[in-house]
Amino acid sequence: MTIPLQFFGYEKGRLSTDGVSLAEIAHEVGTPVYIYSAEAFLSPLRELQKGLKDLDHLICFAVKSNSNIAIIKLLAEAGAGMDLVSGGELFRAKKAGQHASKMVFSGVGKTEAEMKMALELDVEGIFSFNVESSHELAVLNGVAVALKRKAKVALRFNPDVDAKTHPYISTGLKKNKFGMQRKEIQEVVKRLEGYPGIDLRGISIHIGSQLLTLAPLEDAFARLQKVVLELNEELPRPLSFVDLGGGVGIRYDQEVPPTLAKYCALVQKYFGKKAKLKYPLKVLIEPGRTLAGNAGVLVTEVLGRKQRTQKDFLVVDAGMNDLIRPALYESYHGIVPLNETLTKKNLRKTNIVGPVCESADCFATDRLFSTELKKGDRLAILSAGAYGMSMASNYNSRPRPAEVLVRNGKFRVIRKRETLEDLIRGEALE
Ligand SMILES: *Cc1c(COP(=O)(O)O)cnc(C)c1O
Repeated sequence: MTIPLQFFGYEKGRLSTDGVSLAEIAHEVGTPVYIYSAEAFLSPLRELQKGLKDLDHLICFAVKSNSNIAIIKLLAEAGAGMDLVSGGELFRAKKAGQHASKMVFSGVGKTEAEMKMALELDVEGIFSFNVESSHELAVLNGVAVALKRKAKVALRFNPDVDAKTHPYISTGLKKNKFGMQRKEIQEVVKRLEGYPGIDLRGISIHIGSQLLTLAPLEDAFARLQKVVLELNEELPRPLSFVDLGGGVGIRYDQEVPPTLAKYCALVQKYFGKKAKLKYPLKVLIEPGRTLAGNAGVLVTEVLGRKQRTQKDFLVVDAGMNDLIRPALYESYHGIVPLNETLTKKNLRKTNIVGPVCESADCFATDRLFSTELKKGDRLAILSAGAYGMSMASNYNSRPRPAEVLVRNGKFRVIRKRETLEDLIRGEALE
């Protein structure tokens, strides 16, 4: 059986990555466990770097998609910057050795404490605050003035395009809470002298996630280019960069996402040399899922089988607290046994469900699995590298899973499984 992943596949009948059998890892580390392939993270990063090499660019990994400090370090060492959405992510990026000059801070609600932290990081502060409203700009200005600093800023433009993705991950429409409209940005730019703590350098966009066609991105790029040209007429100093956000989709099932080469060509068309802009722009992008999504799987063990007349239920030891995407977005994840011989025989309609007390705790509905799968057999839930562990919780008082990174034919634990003591840390009986 072949599975639709470049960096995970069966070797001698055992699901493996980079020559390491996932069963061997599960045996040693236990389940549930997230297993990542370093190569799988680095390969799309290299593709983007290649596609943008003619441009002054910075590829900022969206840390919220996978926040483990070992992953941040892996990508930072390969040249990536970081896109952050909280002080917590800033802390992680710093711990992983990332320099402030390669960090951008996005997000619709930044606190003053987070602003201060980012402004003071590595003396010069971060590369850019991607500011979402005139209100936030005023607050940031106040914080910067009090610290006698200038905050480098990009305003987040809401281009009002429909990303045609799941409504929960669509962010570029007027009705969404994100960004500023063109008028609002123009107003702010007219009043820039009123913000002595702000150094306006760029405009950012991010229209949504898991985009499967380039059309909405092209729409957004065209609108962004227009706004930048307009603003440059008004500004005493032209804008120096655009931040194009993330959102390029990946394959979970049968989808055919745009190739990264085509995506890069689109970026070049609007912001590269071909665009013949009067003032050249540095280009930032913020891929999350694109780098992380197919770089990890969640390995889980079968706890038991429930037989019903219509179908069977396989109860596994991973739950929606470990991987919430199916419950939250009804998203699809391929699921395969670690042992290839169990992929074919005696197939029967099956639901794969977790132990959490919610009906939404279901990883697969009415899919065909072998009736020979039994207690102790292990399954891999595929394409779980993005928005998997980073969205995991302790719901039902379940310790969060371990995380393992495979690199150069070896594996190491990059996050220990939580213990029962971890569960109650900070709680007080009296
Ligand atoms: C979530 C997010 C991203 C990453 O999105 P992906 O779909 O994972 O690429 C990038 N930029 C911003 C501002 C985000 O909020």
